[in-house]
Amino acid sequence: MKFETLAIRAGQDPDPDTGSVIVPIYQTSTFYQKSLDKFGQYEYSRSGNPTRRALETAIASLEGGKHGLAYASGSAATVGVLQLLKPGDHVVAGQDLYGGTYRLLESVYKGIGIEVTYANTYDISEFKKAFRKNTKMVWIESPTNPLLKISDIAKIAEVAKSHKALFVVDNTFLSPYFQKPLSLGADIIVHSTTKYIAGHSDIIGGAVVTSDEEAFKAMKFYQNAGGAVPGILDCWLTLRGLKTLAVRMKEHEANSIYLAKWLQSHPKIRKVFYPGLPTHENHELAKKQQTGFGAVVSAYLDGGYDEAKKFCENLKIFMLAESLGGVESLVCYPVKMSHAVLSEEDRLKQGITANLVRLSVGIENKEDLKDDLAQALDN
Ligand SMILES: *Cc1c(COP(=O)(O)O)cnc(C)c1O
Repeated sequence: MKFETLAIRAGQDPDPDTGSVIVPIYQTSTFYQKSLDKFGQYEYSRSGNPTRRALETAIASLEGGKHGLAYASGSAATVGVLQLLKPGDHVVAGQDLYGGTYRLLESVYKGIGIEVTYANTYDISEFKKAFRKNTKMVWIESPTNPLLKISDIAKIAEVAKSHKALFVVDNTFLSPYFQKPLSLGADIIVHSTTKYIAGHSDIIGGAVVTSDEEAFKAMKFYQNAGGAVPGILDCWLTLRGLKTLAVRMKEHEANSIYLAKWLQSHPKIRKVFYPGLPTHENHELAKKQQTGFGAVVSAYLDGGYDEAKKFCENLKIFMLAESLGGVESLVCYPVKMSHAVLSEEDRLKQGITANLVRLSVGIENKEDLKDDLAQALDN
């Protein structure tokens, strides 16, 4: 079956007891057992629940992986993967990670003896230098937040494999509709399902997908032991969102291409960052390893903090808010929002300056979105 069909049917057969076409919300903490000698498929909802199971199966199938695990947030999914490491292990991580992932590595995992090197993942010969004897994991995001830089996933996979390190890709920004890192050689996929997968800005959730049996067994054990599982209703909402992932992503992308091109020609915009633009530094690589360009568009405005503040506050349809990936358009000011946890020095190294704004382009009418940007820039 193809993507659109899998999104609606994978793991989502009619309910065996009632015939319900939609997977029911099995809002229960525990399951009745008929006999002490033989327990049923489900015992207790931290360990497993049919609604969560449907979600895990669906996400795994969309990523082309064998196993899926759902978590209470993308950050809990990140912890679920990092838990595979032991003190003394070394991680090679991308230079510009999601702020919360960086915070976990720096402020939690370094403290328990996990070593981390932030490597240049855009230049493979530089990237290779970051490896050590004890390197057990490689962690990247592609495209990155907020400047949409792209790493060559297949090449990184080769290097990781030659060092027997698990290769993790946070695929939140593109969703499996536009990128399937497992097919490019990654071992583990992490998602904040809060973003495109659930897609309606109404839940916090996370997921992990892998075909590596050993890693799956260990993460499944920790998912139950640590217990950072999503609530049943959130699983059901995520599953409902997932069904329309393909149609949403197409609209998100069409609007983004339209707005990125328009912004590029606007006199008050200095530079637009969007991998779908032929002028983007990684446009060719994006075309090769992705099936679409996503819907995050960042831009340097003409001016500094004052101009950026006016722009963000003048917007009427784009709402000033953290997060991305929902049907509604949002604007984010990375210096004070998504990347506030970084030092100013680290921000500047990444190109996160006072005139940078990040748009999460929604699926409203593209002319309305353009008019909103135009009035905010003109005022
Ligand atoms: C939002 C996000 C996360 C964290 O997910 P939460 O659901 O907020 O915990 C991780 N990675 C990326 C790329 C994200 O955008």
